[in-house]
Amino acid sequence: MGECIFCKIAAGEIPAKKCFEDDQVVAFHDIHPLRPTHLLVIPRKHIASLAHVGAEDEPVLGRMLAVAQKLAVEHGSDDGFRCIINTGRVGGQEVSHLHLHILGGPEPVGPMVTKI
Ligand code: 5GP
Ligand code: ZN
Repeated sequence: MGECIFCKIAAGEIPAKKCFEDDQVVAFHDIHPLRPTHLLVIPRKHIASLAHVGAEDEPVLGRMLAVAQKLAVEHGSDDGFRCIINTGRVGGQEVSHLHLHILGGPEPVGPMVTKI
């Protein structure tokens, strides 16, 4: 996926403030944070969106959530946090590589449907 910006971040070809990586996933700070904590967790594999996952991708989906929990705790989200996966046009997805947003406080994140 030559022109995918998140594939390039995963490969280290363009810079990002990474906070976790393993063989399956990479996590980094959103370039335009909308809350004091705003991280993204992505699969290393190029998957265009949550609408494009297959049965073979189920392990990496679980890994993304487990890493999200670990990172939220590490970033001080003792009082909770929100995970969002924008998907497709209706979901307001702008980058076509599956990614999980982690949003943290200290103030409550806000209404459920606010575009983050
Ligand atoms: P989406 O709207 O697709 O769910 O969210 C894409 C997110 O990726 C946005 O919050 C945007 O700020 C972030 N983003 C886009 N390009 C880059 C980039 O090059 N580096 C980083 N760290 N974040 C990016
Ligand atoms: Zn990609």
